[in-house]
Amino acid sequence: MGFSEMTDVSVKCRSMLADSAEIAPAPLAEAVDLSPDGAEKTLWRLHDGLGTESVIIPDGDRRTLCVSSQAGCAVGCLFCRTGAMGFRRNLTQGEIIFPALAARRLPGEAAVTNLVFMGMGEPFHNAENVRRALRILNDPEYAAFPRRQTTISTIGVTPALGKLTAQDLKNSLAISLNTPFQDERDRLMPGARAYPLEGLREAIRDLPLRRGRRITLAYVLLGGVNDTPRHAEALAGWCEGLRVKVNLIPFNPWPGARFRRPDEGAAEAFRETLVARNLTALTRKSYGRDVSAACGQLAGRSETFPADAGTWGPAPRTRSGAIAASPKGPTNPAPPAGLPAPSAIQRWRSPPLSGRNDREAPCLVRKPRSLMGFMRKQRSLMGFMRKPRRLRS
Ligand code: SF4
Repeated sequence: MGFSEMTDVSVKCRSMLADSAEIAPAPLAEAVDLSPDGAEKTLWRLHDGLGTESVIIPDGDRRTLCVSSQAGCAVGCLFCRTGAMGFRRNLTQGEIIFPALAARRLPGEAAVTNLVFMGMGEPFHNAENVRRALRILNDPEYAAFPRRQTTISTIGVTPALGKLTAQDLKNSLAISLNTPFQDERDRLMPGARAYPLEGLREAIRDLPLRRGRRITLAYVLLGGVNDTPRHAEALAGWCEGLRVKVNLIPFNPWPGARFRRPDEGAAEAFRETLVARNLTALTRKSYGRDVSAACGQLAGRSETFPADAGTWGPAPRTRSGAIAASPKGPTNPAPPAGLPAPSAIQRWRSPPLSGRNDREAPCLVRKPRSLMGFMRKQRSLMGFMRKPRRLRS
């Protein structure tokens, strides 16, 4: 379908759309895995057959969506299943926002409240598309995810960190550290070798953080590897003088992984060492481990599903927002007869943002451009652009 066939839209509108946007197939929600702990992992089949995954993580009143920014990842962290599959391609702006918009519109308490770019991929390696996606996701007129409740997680691409402004840092930032020792980090995170720890520390120190804000350091605890008292002491020393808090993530095993989950005692001792050195340190609970939806486990099923096994749309849900039981299991229904092939405007051919074109930072600094304003007026014609339900206060 082309814009010229949208005869219920004005000629001017069609012309503007043709100049500014293109129609590409939307990702298909091909399968949903439900964990007894409430985590939901969705496999999204992209138009070229590649797959990405997103995860909804329940935590009290919050429901957090873990978003992917790439199909695969070039960083190749040894403890990460996405890293093991290698890099396939960057996701488009539309492919990034589609799962988030779908999750935002879930009924009732199922609606997602927080976003974290901790799914597949390194966001700063796809900075332009992530930045554009954030513009829509954080826009109060669109997805309306509050910036503070939208976290970008990175390995610490120091050139990009150096360009972040205070405005950019309205989004929360998490940096994946994983060891305080350079040689060990070089082995664990091969793609981070270009950004040595010393420079990373300086970049964190120089971030223009507002009062009261801190950076989160993510630290995956690998049993017998980086969970020793020596590591804890060195990490505490590395953090001195930085406005950071530490999130400890016990390793979540996956088939073929060469690491093991740390003993609970070792993980707690590690945390206590940090706390004793006046650091804020939390051990993060892992959700969805039994369906390979936990941190570091994404990418498994996306590589095994045939491209033509797609089903249509988000999974059917009950009024309360729970996924309805299906005799075939928690997968999506087939498209109703007569529906056209799934399609949506997925990629905007917008001109680069002036003044910030060369920046790698994926945060948004400009008000929406004229096209976006125009689209707001036309949103009734574009289902996927409809103003979402706002967060309940
Ligand atoms: S942990 Fe993140 S940066 Fe490392 S390979 Fe996995 S997705 Fe990439």
